[in-house]
Amino acid sequence: MGPRVVVLGAGVIGLSVARALGARGARPLVVDASPAAREASWAAGGILGLGTEYAADGPGYRLARFAFDRWDGVADRLRRETGVPLEVTRAGTLLVAKDAADAAALEARGAFHRSVGLASAMLDGPGARRVEPRLAPRVEAALHVPEARLDNRRLLEALDAACRNAGIEVRTGVRALRCVERGGRVLGVETEHGAVPADAVVVATGAWSEEVAATAGLTLPMVPVKGQMLRVEAPDGFLGPIVKQGPQYLVPQRGRGIVVGTTAEEVGFARGTDEAALARIRAAAEDLVPDLAGRARVEAWAGFRPRLPDLLPALGPVASRPGLFLATGHFRNGILLCEATGELVARAVLGDLDPLLAAFDPERFGRGARSDGGGPRGPVAGGPGQRP
Ligand SMILES: Cc1cc2nc3c(=O)[nH]c(=O)nc-3n(C[C@H](O)[C@H](O)[C@H](O)COP(=O)(O)OP(=O)(O)OC[C@H]3O[C@@H](n4cnc5c(N)ncnc54)[C@H](O)[C@@H]3O)c2cc1C
Repeated sequence: MGPRVVVLGAGVIGLSVARALGARGARPLVVDASPAAREASWAAGGILGLGTEYAADGPGYRLARFAFDRWDGVADRLRRETGVPLEVTRAGTLLVAKDAADAAALEARGAFHRSVGLASAMLDGPGARRVEPRLAPRVEAALHVPEARLDNRRLLEALDAACRNAGIEVRTGVRALRCVERGGRVLGVETEHGAVPADAVVVATGAWSEEVAATAGLTLPMVPVKGQMLRVEAPDGFLGPIVKQGPQYLVPQRGRGIVVGTTAEEVGFARGTDEAALARIRAAAEDLVPDLAGRARVEAWAGFRPRLPDLLPALGPVASRPGLFLATGHFRNGILLCEATGELVARAVLGDLDPLLAAFDPERFGRGARSDGGGPRGPVAGGPGQRP
């Protein structure tokens, strides 16, 4: 019988790790604090961003590349396994320059892309409008980047269904309070509803991972970065590619209009949206695509990106705490990275440590001295699952 592994967090990361563990003969159990796990994975924009997210080669880019190249196959498999109509759209992203300096930066970005074999194309204004006719007449330059998108809420639904189909229990509404250790080994977790013994624990609690990791003596300086989003009604085909300029973007989603984002706010776990921020996001989007004006807003929401100081995730074993593994800190790219994370972390749990993980050592921010967990703690304000 394979090892019993408790995975904390039922976002795309925890579910992907659980699914990969189950496929390799382990016995995962997923525990999530929220009644319905609807945090960052639900709040995201669904961009599988490779060329727009990474400006230079390095561990982050290499992990993203490993992840990106797998998506077509992954979406097909999930669709077949679950019937959830998940599909990857590869219409690319138009990264729009706001001025001449910005256009020069995009040229440099394009040169980096070519150096790593990504076929980006620098376009002038008319060229950009041939790719996307609704682009504002003021746009004078854009980089057309070959990347992709999917509906992240469908992805979450498909991963959840795939886990359950595989006989993996997903317990929602159960908050993990602390890791349980014996003889220096992590042997399960204490939850609000009692202890859950296990051979290994994987922390995949997104922006909330610092608390849980600290109970095993691990320093994880996680910052929740709030992003506000809105959805505007539009027919399929209204926009072809994703349109992006700095933090502003418009993502067409089949059957669900246009997702418009976003903010990057360090406000702790303060939930909810505010009209002033939403109005700014919307105005910036209309500046890029004027035809958006007058289209009805159908939804607005916010979520918390899990950000570590070096902007890279923490993945794999915690060497000083045998039995403890991390899969967190995916910041702006957890949708892109979830499947790759699932595979790499599941293999690590089962003793097969991929060299790709070296740069994502969970202990690179230091180790704490505590190993007793410091006792159970109550839920933090704005904790997962708490709605505004
Ligand atoms: C506005 C926004 C836009 C984004 N856009 C994109 C994008 O376009 N493309 C992309 O790739 N990425 C995007 N991201 C980033 C991406 O959404 C995240 O990196 C990813 O979803 C993180 O997944 P996760 O499973 O780690 O976290 P989450 O989805 O936040 O899941 C963490 C889970 O842990 C649970 N939890 C917390 N504490 C506990 C506890 N103590 N016990 C048990 N369970 C607990 C929570 O309830 C939650 O369900 C975006 C994020 C935001 C907020």
